[in-house]
Amino acid sequence: MSFDKVIMLDWSGGNDRGPRPVKDAIWACIGMAGTVEEPVYLRNRQLAEEWLTETLTTLQAARHSVLVGFDLCFAYPTGFATKLVGSEDTLALWDWFEARVHDSPKSNNRFDLAGEINAIFPGTGPFWFNGLARDIAHLPRKGRDRTTDHGLGEKRAADMAIPGSFSPWQLAGAGAVGGQVIMGLPVLARLRRQFGKTLSVWPFQSPDTQIVLAETYFSILPDLVVSEPQEIRDAAQVSLYARAFSALSPADMTTLMDIDATPEGWVLGAGQGDVLRDALASTPPPLKNDCFAMPQGAHWTPVAEAHHHLREKLSCVTGTETLPLTKAANRVLAQDVHAVRSHPPARNAAVDGYGFAGPAAAGINKLKLVEGRSAAGAPYDGTVPQGHAIRILTGANLPSGVDTVVLQEDVSTSATEVSFHGPLKRGANARDAGEDMQAGQTILQTGRKITPADLGMLAAAGVGTVTVRRTLKVGILSTGDELRDSGDMATTGQIFDANRPMLSALIASWGYEVIDLGRAPDDRDTLRQILDGAAQDCDVILSSGGASAGDEDHMSALLKDTGSFALWRIAMKPGRPLALGLWQNTPVFGLPGNPVAAMVCALVFAAPALAVMAGGAWTQPTSYQLPAAFAKSKKAGRREYMRARLEDGHVAIFPSEGSGRVSGLSWATGLVELSDPAQKVALGDLVTYIPFNNF
Ligand code: AMP
Ligand code: MG
Repeated sequence: MSFDKVIMLDWSGGNDRGPRPVKDAIWACIGMAGTVEEPVYLRNRQLAEEWLTETLTTLQAARHSVLVGFDLCFAYPTGFATKLVGSEDTLALWDWFEARVHDSPKSNNRFDLAGEINAIFPGTGPFWFNGLARDIAHLPRKGRDRTTDHGLGEKRAADMAIPGSFSPWQLAGAGAVGGQVIMGLPVLARLRRQFGKTLSVWPFQSPDTQIVLAETYFSILPDLVVSEPQEIRDAAQVSLYARAFSALSPADMTTLMDIDATPEGWVLGAGQGDVLRDALASTPPPLKNDCFAMPQGAHWTPVAEAHHHLREKLSCVTGTETLPLTKAANRVLAQDVHAVRSHPPARNAAVDGYGFAGPAAAGINKLKLVEGRSAAGAPYDGTVPQGHAIRILTGANLPSGVDTVVLQEDVSTSATEVSFHGPLKRGANARDAGEDMQAGQTILQTGRKITPADLGMLAAAGVGTVTVRRTLKVGILSTGDELRDSGDMATTGQIFDANRPMLSALIASWGYEVIDLGRAPDDRDTLRQILDGAAQDCDVILSSGGASAGDEDHMSALLKDTGSFALWRIAMKPGRPLALGLWQNTPVFGLPGNPVAAMVCALVFAAPALAVMAGGAWTQPTSYQLPAAFAKSKKAGRREYMRARLEDGHVAIFPSEGSGRVSGLSWATGLVELSDPAQKVALGDLVTYIPFNNF
């Protein structure tokens, strides 16, 4: 049993809670494979029902399977339904409530209805705790005023399995759930009606439909609801449970759902908190503290080995969100996308001309014209008889009786007839339904960065929204006492920070969100403070400078204290060591300070690493073999990158290899890559050229 989406709802029995997100309103959160979207604040039940219906409709159109969890008792203790609807038919009881509950953002009749129900039971009846100022006939104010001769249990078996749970009969008082049950069942009844056979209610029905509703309870993981001080607890709660339930393996979901159903229902996950806890622990896959640890021994690590290591140890660190196509360009797909319908949806004409039943024989063909025409968006409803033809325009559906189109340029027509030279094959100038894409077909795969052309394809296939990774937030930091911002005053002992503007623009060009962390002085405490803040705001930190093992290399020193530090000495020119580590679980890439080395290391290492952390695939840039406009011999044992550009179809390199020459970066349009073994490049030899844009 598995669902590709999980929606968790924190329901409420109260009135509208106003426009500003507050607690005790309705909160919803969508989870998928252990990652969650931002919790949604829904100020009243009407909005919540609308949101849920729309969300389910959208997810259903995109062929997702969805589990919707409500913190809402789906049933009452045994015997109640029989009294009201004549049998223990829980779902019929929902309809009973739906017919009697009146609800609006400002008021509802839950207390009055509870009193009316109580009246048909012996004694006080089961419901208790009138929360209103006015008295209500048959509804006791306090628990001690009630009697038990109504014959019903105070709680269901499921409630008794959950420590601290409340009785569905209690309508008010701190923690009470009774009100939201009465106010929730009608919504459930309407959802059932709306989604018909595609929806089932666990555990009363077999959960083999596209949408499954289930009752859950937000205390089956009591010790795990941690919310930031400023965060609303309800929001944190739905987020946590959406994460946990969506992280369950299919086997674990089956375990949770495999129970003997009674009309009292069950709480999904009750007594199985540890299954959910394990699922949570395994996701979102946090980077391990030793993810940058290199095997000991190798003195200089070859670039390929460094790549291999990053590829193996890094994983996606961003959650997901669902966006309309208009917002999805350049985003990374978090799941496969299927065509909602075939493209083209029906057989249609590829040209302007005349449609008829093919084939047409060699020689002259004469066909009688039927009245009317078939145009794109205005198809012809009738049937075209054998031996007849109809005027048809590009993109118009082929009417019944037509499978072939002759080009208008190839015919001569009178008012009643069209004639042309055959032969013409059956199906000529016509497009088959689904010849481009079939409904249900996977058209894009997880990890794909969405291109403008992809958006065209998705739209054509009827896809309205896509689930993508949140945009990776990359903090950019420069370190060094000598740095000033360009435009500011600087002594000759100071230099301008070239790396931050350069790296920020590079990161932005890759489609990530840049968070400017400014400049850090060569001071350990200040740097620590900056990193503390950055770890909260960023998914990844890219810093430059201070990454070696010198006196002023504070980044290395600080990362060392975390136990996650690794200094990669990579066999590559340019490039000094790459300092890597995790600061409060946030990966830090410590690039060399020298702008040329910083740029090359960012292109060669940060680009593929960030792509993986953003949810994409590990990729290497497309390169071209082109004749060299230079001669050079290089030593064995390291890979070299040189600033290069194309001149007359040849690859030229910047005259100086000096790595302080930042102007050479601007001169260049890409890099030449010379592989690790010794190499003698002569003029005209093919060399590997990689445009900057391909990284
Ligand atoms: P470091 O890695 O901190 O030892 O720096 C190596 C060299 O790069 C030194 O000459 C630094 O002054 C220079 N450098 C460091 N950061 C930057 C920067 N953001 N912009 C320009 N040059 C830098
Ligand atoms: Mg420095």
